[in-house]
Amino acid sequence: MALTQCPSCNKRISSKVKECPHCQFVLAGQSKEDMEREWLRLKQEKSDKLVSRSMLALLIAIAAFTYLFMQQPMPNTWQYGIAVGAMVGGVVWFLINRVQLLFLKKKKR
Ligand SMILES: [Zn+2]
Repeated sequence: MALTQCPSCNKRISSKVKECPHCQFVLAGQSKEDMEREWLRLKQEKSDKLVSRSMLALLIAIAAFTYLFMQQPMPNTWQYGIAVGAMVGGVVWFLINRVQLLFLKKKKR
């Protein structure tokens, strides 16, 4: 059984499989052009997902910030804790998605 590299995720896979077990990239019966197109489509899909996820994260951070700003809950209350947690979590999540997006765009085969 020969090993080959998945053109999409670059993981080692058997050359006999029809579909990459890691990323579901379809390998069987495709010309080089088909593979290229499929790869670009997957990449686009991934980046779309990352963009919408980062937007969601940003939305959570903004909502939490707005709540803190408008309601001004007392520190040491659970409302305050949740709002700060959501704000920090949202910002961190947003940054993680942005960094992943950056790596995805840089990725070349
Ligand atoms: Zn793969």
